[in-house]
Amino acid sequence: MDVLVLNCGSSSLKYQLLNMETETLLVKGLCERIGIDGQLKHDRGDKVYEAALPMPDHEAAVKIVLDALLNPEHGVIKSMDEITAVGHRVVHGGEHFTDSVLITDDVERIIEECSALAPLHNPPNLTGIRACKHIMPAVPQVAVFDTAFHAGMPAKAYLYAIPYEYYEEHKIRKYGFHGTSHKYVSMRAAEILGKPYKELKIITCHLGNGASVCAIDGGRSVDTSMGLTPLEGLIMGTRSGDIDPVLVTFIMQKENKTAQETLDILNKKSGVLGISGVSSDFRDIGQAASEGCERAQAALDAYCYRVARYIGSYITAMNGADAIVFTAGVGENSIQTREEICKYLTCFGAEADSEKNNSRGAEVDFSKDHAKVRTLVIPTNEELVIARDTKQLIKK
Ligand code: ADP
Repeated sequence: MDVLVLNCGSSSLKYQLLNMETETLLVKGLCERIGIDGQLKHDRGDKVYEAALPMPDHEAAVKIVLDALLNPEHGVIKSMDEITAVGHRVVHGGEHFTDSVLITDDVERIIEECSALAPLHNPPNLTGIRACKHIMPAVPQVAVFDTAFHAGMPAKAYLYAIPYEYYEEHKIRKYGFHGTSHKYVSMRAAEILGKPYKELKIITCHLGNGASVCAIDGGRSVDTSMGLTPLEGLIMGTRSGDIDPVLVTFIMQKENKTAQETLDILNKKSGVLGISGVSSDFRDIGQAASEGCERAQAALDAYCYRVARYIGSYITAMNGADAIVFTAGVGENSIQTREEICKYLTCFGAEADSEKNNSRGAEVDFSKDHAKVRTLVIPTNEELVIARDTKQLIKK
């Protein structure tokens, strides 16, 4: 059984084809510049095929992906029938979806309704779903939501302290994101620790361009740092994370900006880019800091401090923690960032072993032998979770 996993952005489409008998990756790729000109990168492991191909819309991109999968030279399948199902990453499922679902007309309508909560993400996700339905009408499609893993959070974690009618009427609440990643790495942590998932308290730190922390008690997300939108919480590459909301009107007045322009600044020009003035990429900031750039150092310090504060608060939320997991681009690769964050956590019994921590992009328990709270790096694999959910749903 082969499952195609799609992640559609506004001008991009990431894909993977996985064999779900063996859970092996057959091929992965990326269509970029959809609606502009079009660029395909198709990576089979043994060879990479790259081509400039016209992609006026997502439907054209899906067709190009299917052609690449079937291509006698660089493809991996002989017939479309080998694709048993398609799993789509969908960012926002609102309060409707507490788990992955088989896509029906009703599901599509609700995803469209949720676009108000994720205007940059849900519309392209939906475009990808519609393109596949059109091209492969007989193949079942599954939606896997970034928000679903957090849907069981208690009200004390998801309610904002604003008039309750706003929650009732407009569904203004914390939703949380990166759920697929938090779920994957926390389940994997339980396997590595050799303990039942249901008996563990785990804090997962997904530190990529976007970043969030999650408190997982007995396999359930009980709190997470992103909110109504992915702007809340940690300092990120270009996003501010938590701020005093009055900043918005203050910046509008002082800088003569509209509300939308101010939100764009908080989403795209803030975070470590905003503080450092150097870059949103931790490699560039680390380099600048090592050359004496004070603002780059200030950005790294603020970043690590914020992550550590969230971890501390989630240890309180769960009244303890067995493990802290680092994942995504920064979490998997930045040795320095992990080291700095862990320095704040010795009071809880988490202690990093510098030698074991000296590793990038690989699974490792980098705790000192006697540490009470284990610290782990686990590379995330959101596509595998999407493919697993897809397989399970179509079996039903
Ligand atoms: P996305 O949220 O776009 O999926 P990723 O999880 O791929 O992001 O993370 C991308 C970020 O990871 C980059 O912006 C960079 O800051 C960071 N990163 C990648 N490799 C390294 C590295 N070797 N050292 C430090 N940071 C890294």
